[in-house]
Amino acid sequence: MSIQVAELPKTLRERADNSISQLHAAVSQYGNVCYASSLGAESVVLTDLIWSAVPDIDVFSIDTGRLYPETYELIERIQHRYGRALRLYYPQASDLEEWVNANGINGFRDSVEQRHGCCGIRKVAPFRRAIAGKNAWVTGIRRAQSASRAMAAPVEWDSEYGLHKVSPLLEWTETEIWDYIRKKRLPYNSLHDTGFPSIGCAPCTREVQAGEHERSGRWWWERPESRECGLHPRRKSPALAAVNPAKR
Ligand code: SF4
Repeated sequence: MSIQVAELPKTLRERADNSISQLHAAVSQYGNVCYASSLGAESVVLTDLIWSAVPDIDVFSIDTGRLYPETYELIERIQHRYGRALRLYYPQASDLEEWVNANGINGFRDSVEQRHGCCGIRKVAPFRRAIAGKNAWVTGIRRAQSASRAMAAPVEWDSEYGLHKVSPLLEWTETEIWDYIRKKRLPYNSLHDTGFPSIGCAPCTREVQAGEHERSGRWWWERPESRECGLHPRRKSPALAAVNPAKR
């Protein structure tokens, strides 16, 4: 039997309660809300909060076709734990076929543009189908994850996709995420135990060394400023934007 939120230490319970309040507020305000689970550590926390306290939110994930076997095992364990199906979205076969045959099976390593092309077909297009008709989407981003995410607001208008974006875990620390997972004995990706703080597609994610930034294992061959997946477009600080507005 799972441990309930009320049994968490006070500070963690307050974090969880605060996130649940934000999720309830999003449903009250926007009605049709979905959660795009990345299946990382934050995602198992957020899925637990949603399915335990705000079940009206539609939870989905995207199977890019290049995920680690451990990630597929996690999907099964999550579904078994909650007795609910995690809705999965897939790339359009014809678009993928065309892209791979034109660029190569691992052509995403050849340039940032080609990587964005692969992410566009495998992630962004299924994401667009998943959020069609929704008024808001929930993300598990945290401020500490990157300079770009540090500037996020709990609720933002997502002009890229034309709906509101709600980020109820923004203030959580990595330690709090893992305390919550352990206290509640949530299923999580076993790769986290072998040096993977952030897990995406297998060819584009690797383990990081002690002291390295948690997102340094994602698209490590690219410059840090290009390392986002397309679902969370990179933003510049006001200071940088003022220096070169054309690069906003
Ligand atoms: S993370 Fe890598 S394999 Fe996955 S969609 Fe993006 S470029 Fe393609």
